[in-house]
Amino acid sequence: MEKKNIDWSNLGFAYMKTDYRYVSNFKDGAWDDGILTQDDMVTISECAGVLQYSQSVFEGLKAYTTEDGRIVTFRPDLNAERMVNSAKRLEMPVFPADRFVDAVVQTVKANAAYVPPYGSGATLYIRPYMFGSNPVIGVKPADEYQFRVFTTPVGPYFKGGAKPITIRVCDFDRAAPHGTGHIKAGLNYAMSLHAIVDAHNQGFDENMYLDAATRTKVEETGGANFIFITKDNKLVTPKSNSILPSITRRSLEYVAEKYLGMEVEEREVFFEEVPEFAECGLCGTAAVISPVGKIVDHGKEICFPSGMEAMGPVTQKLYDTLTGIQMGRIEAPEGWIKVIE
Ligand SMILES: *Cc1c(COP(=O)(O)O)cnc(C)c1O
Repeated sequence: MEKKNIDWSNLGFAYMKTDYRYVSNFKDGAWDDGILTQDDMVTISECAGVLQYSQSVFEGLKAYTTEDGRIVTFRPDLNAERMVNSAKRLEMPVFPADRFVDAVVQTVKANAAYVPPYGSGATLYIRPYMFGSNPVIGVKPADEYQFRVFTTPVGPYFKGGAKPITIRVCDFDRAAPHGTGHIKAGLNYAMSLHAIVDAHNQGFDENMYLDAATRTKVEETGGANFIFITKDNKLVTPKSNSILPSITRRSLEYVAEKYLGMEVEEREVFFEEVPEFAECGLCGTAAVISPVGKIVDHGKEICFPSGMEAMGPVTQKLYDTLTGIQMGRIEAPEGWIKVIE
């Protein structure tokens, strides 16, 4: 297969149309067989449920070229399962998990020419999503839905290595207790846009959201979970019903325990104890781990001992091990790597 003529190492994180996408429609209580199509346009009613009441959920994962030249994805079964949970919470029909994985495989295969080569730092980002497609004006779930998967090649998240970022404690809330913070719904992002634009205007890279009920516990940022490293080398991650269960974070917990022999604690993390940690990072599919160097709480600075120049040493080990597994340099736990071709 001939690769497209793309300057892989200078790609940013932006949409680039690729050749094929997967589409399946839900109508009269059933999903159709689904097809790959070259048509990148979606045609729906002006009154479609998604346009009126934001009934939409999505996922994000990546395809990689491994060291030995295979195209693989990382734990797509967990994305499938998470989308099942997201759909249920928004009263949407479930797209079966096995069909989700099959749709991802078909779409990546059809766009194999866009999967960046090993060593370029770039990857093929995969975006499965689903939305209410028929007219809805009285407030109720749609009757018809569309499930789609498209892909787009994206560059390394950090060009020239990951520099620690500065984040602020945010005065807006991301998710209410018993709300929708634990599902991957577009609506969670719509309401975070004002907070992130404001953070950027104030010179911060990201928002740290606290729990909405007591504002004493660490939740997550707009699109990544927190990991903390204690001075005695434990991995601590916040536990809450209103954070999104990041697949990267869950994988890092496993890597810490099983590959690096670390103790792992998933528990409530009070903001008060944050200055005690040695290292801090944000984890998600896009960057794997973004190191956090500084947290600013209304003018009061928490500076981690790992500093503003490089990832902390433990964070770096976690990062190297997980990316090593994804790129095929380190043996993966059973079932983590789905080989596409
Ligand atoms: C997608 C997402 C994450 C990261 O999840 P991964 O599965 O690791 O990509 C974290 N927080 C939120 C709010 C998200 O939407």
